[in-house]
Amino acid sequence: MSKIDLRSDTVTKPTKEMRAVIANADVGDDVFGDDPSVNALQDFAANLLGKEAALFCPTGTQSNLVGILAHCQRGDEYIVGQSAHTYLYEGGGAAVLGSVQPQPLEYGDVDGVIPPEKIKGAIKEDDAHFAKTKLICLENTKGGRPLPDGYVREVKQVADAHGLSMHLDGARLFNAAVKTGQSVKDLAADFDSVSICLSKGLGAPVGSLLVGSAEIVNKAHRWRKMTGGGMRQAGILAAAGLYALQNNVARLADDHANAQKLADGLRDMNGVEVLDGSGLTNMVFVRVDETRVDALSEHAEAAGMILPAGSNVRLVTHLDVSADDIERVLEVFQKSL
Ligand SMILES: *Cc1c(COP(=O)(O)O)cnc(C)c1O
Repeated sequence: MSKIDLRSDTVTKPTKEMRAVIANADVGDDVFGDDPSVNALQDFAANLLGKEAALFCPTGTQSNLVGILAHCQRGDEYIVGQSAHTYLYEGGGAAVLGSVQPQPLEYGDVDGVIPPEKIKGAIKEDDAHFAKTKLICLENTKGGRPLPDGYVREVKQVADAHGLSMHLDGARLFNAAVKTGQSVKDLAADFDSVSICLSKGLGAPVGSLLVGSAEIVNKAHRWRKMTGGGMRQAGILAAAGLYALQNNVARLADDHANAQKLADGLRDMNGVEVLDGSGLTNMVFVRVDETRVDALSEHAEAAGMILPAGSNVRLVTHLDVSADDIERVLEVFQKSL
């Protein structure tokens, strides 16, 4: 029996159906633009998000990077959240490889939401002392939470008033769409570029897409090549991605229901605190009493489960976690606490 792995929604393995699609994928050399499966995926994603074009990238890190570099020149800056993936978790790539300075800002009361006033206040005047503010980067979902209704519109108004572009790290945009009932097209509408991940909850083994205007995607294409992301018969990966977009979006609701069930079950227990933001999409954040951490990891291991180590943990539901699995996880917590 396979292990129940709650560390991340990146741990999913391709299903038999997806593997069949991979095996039968039509391929060509994508550096020549010849791979029909890559082209089909890019067209599908562009259309789905209501944009002109899309670019298949091996990772979300690269997709965000080439997006930022397409918007910004050397000496420009992007405004970003203090714990945003595009600031904190991408090795400082935009600064290292593009000489683009991040201007990180603290969030307000809600994770992922930088108050628009604060964004406005951080935009720099045109003055030789300063980097040139060029771009605002948001993330949806952030910390498992969809951005609140109306927020993006407010930020877009600030961006428009100052001639700034907008980029969205939408690694889990489909979770936001399923949760809020809005289309990804609507959620993407105010952004000039959007990065989406196929290898998170959607269950593809590899891949992300940068979606946006033809101009931005063309520029990003050059950066992708330069950063070593020009892949040849990438259609075997793209076919899995297309399958994921066509088959695995609506079922994200199951992951959300499972996360909620997990959060609710844990709330009833002593020795574990369920933190804010839990169960909104596919994530649950808990603080386990220090004295129970060892017992929990022993029981989890014995039961064939993989949980993140430590006292402050993020548990993530996905394609390979069933409602029954959640019952078993709750039993393990119950036994340990
Ligand atoms: C996973 C993730 C990415 C991209 O990560 P890769 O591992 O490089 O594909 C970007 N942003 C967020 C919010 C993520 O969770």
